[in-house]
Amino acid sequence: MAAFAPKSQVRVAVLGATGSVGQRFVGLLEHHPWFQLVRVGASPRSAGRPYGKAVRWMQAGPCPSAAASLVVQDCEPARGVDLVFSALGSSVAGPIERAWAAAGALVVSNASTHRMHPEVPLCVPEVNADHLAQADRQSFGSGAIVCGPNCSTAGLVLALAPLQLAFGIRQATVVTLQAVSGAGVPGVPSMQVIDNLLPYIAGEEDKLESEPHKILGRLSGTGIQELAFPMSATATRVPVIDGHTEVVSLSLVGDPTPDAVAAAMASFQGPEGIAALPSAPARPVVVLAEPDGPQPRLHRGMENGMATVVGRVRDCPVLGTKFVLLSHNTLRGAAGGALLIGEALIARRG
Ligand code: NAP
Repeated sequence: MAAFAPKSQVRVAVLGATGSVGQRFVGLLEHHPWFQLVRVGASPRSAGRPYGKAVRWMQAGPCPSAAASLVVQDCEPARGVDLVFSALGSSVAGPIERAWAAAGALVVSNASTHRMHPEVPLCVPEVNADHLAQADRQSFGSGAIVCGPNCSTAGLVLALAPLQLAFGIRQATVVTLQAVSGAGVPGVPSMQVIDNLLPYIAGEEDKLESEPHKILGRLSGTGIQELAFPMSATATRVPVIDGHTEVVSLSLVGDPTPDAVAAAMASFQGPEGIAALPSAPARPVVVLAEPDGPQPRLHRGMENGMATVVGRVRDCPVLGTKFVLLSHNTLRGAAGGALLIGEALIARRG
């Protein structure tokens, strides 16, 4: 069967386009086969200036020339946009995203504002693309809002989903070592983070302890039935530019061997329709054999930054199983993950 492609280009806006995640969107959209970037929005500080002048470009390679010449707009709804990617901070995202949805746009958000709203799918497409059906019956207007998870949650649930499917999760703990790009532009002051580790990131642990339950939950006629299991998180910031490392320990039903755990993760595939989308990785979870991986500099680019890279799968004397994972926070954990959601939404609407 031929892979789906929309009949015409989908007109796309990026809100918060000058920020850390917004820049990732602009870069990824340059050669996207379905999506055409027609609008970039940011704060009043940037609006009215050409994007190339307003943005403090921090990606490898030059700012795409077509985007550089777009004039930055405010973030109010506008005509001529089908799909909106929001990279706004959660303090401003709520009313702006709801206004776009009320005006008929499909909004895919990286902000936390609507993630736990009962009508809003919180989606990692390989894990819960079926939850996108919730977007058909929202009360925001003729459009819809769908959220991507917190950057650490995105990588974590890709590893947890195959373990829930194969064995069942009893309880889990995670300690994150998160990259500085997760704190946005300009980010954490160098005097705080170089030669150091910050053992606290405001709000992060609550998200890690709640979002996986919704993503791994089941969609029923009454909404998402969350998967209930005790989850304990500690979030830290480390002097790495991109790539969140996470140290996971968990108790699995049946106490499987490390080989069985590794095999379940390595063989995980999303639903057939998702695997064929332009931003989908061939391998959502890559399991490394070498004893000293994953490492951010070496492995964050695997599968174009869309894979959860797992290593050190072994017995845990306390909970049963432990491993280390790595996930690219501004690609899988933000812009890349959101593009995949957008593709899934367009594909399911035909
Ligand atoms: P950021 O670098 O601080 O960028 C924020 C963007 O929002 C900028 O474009 C900024 O425009 C714009 N903005 C600020 N105030 C505004 C206002 N009042 N009206 C309209 N636009 C406004 O943040 P980020 O790290 O890219 O994060 C963006 C969102 O993604 C956040 O909700 C964050 O939690 C989430 N997220 C981030 C990551 C990550 O790894 N960084 C991962 C997952 C999710 P100006 O440049 O004009 O100020």
